[in-house]
Amino acid sequence: MERTLSIIKPDGVEKNIIGEVIKRFETNGIKIAAMKMIHLSKSQAQGFYAVHKERPFFDSLTDFMTSGPIVVMVLEGEDVISKNRKLMGATNFKDAEEGTIRKEYATDIEKNVVHGSDAPETAAFEIGYFFNDLELHSR
Ligand code: ATP
Ligand code: MG
Repeated sequence: MERTLSIIKPDGVEKNIIGEVIKRFETNGIKIAAMKMIHLSKSQAQGFYAVHKERPFFDSLTDFMTSGPIVVMVLEGEDVISKNRKLMGATNFKDAEEGTIRKEYATDIEKNVVHGSDAPETAAFEIGYFFNDLELHSR
């Protein structure tokens, strides 16, 4: 059993597609172990995306991620890190496969609706960034 962090980014919340995203997880056998809606501060967004701090898009990305509320979830299931990445589609929606969340809903390489951890180590860091053990519910 594996866990991963999923975020519905401010553009996804603004587009009113929280349910659409969650439905894809549930119909693909993924369980939600934790969930909340929060509005990140700039420094909280910078801390979350610290691995990208040298990238040219870091400032714009952290501005975007603080532009409105986000939905943060812990997903649980077999092979859920890569399953979630497949459901999301490529970072750039133009390269995303047909039927993926980003292909269907993203409008911009930055405003790409969802985030998903990319490896077990990043998942552990990202889950711990938002949730403590008491907030995680394995089913
Ligand atoms: P995420 O980490 O959000 O799940 P990802 O792993 O597909 O997405 P990363 O390379 O980790 O992509 O980039 C993190 C986020 O930074 C992207 O989701 C996107 O919002 C933004 N981003 C990535 N590349 C660019 C770029 N070239 N220009 C602007 N924003 C970018
Ligand atoms: Mg990433």
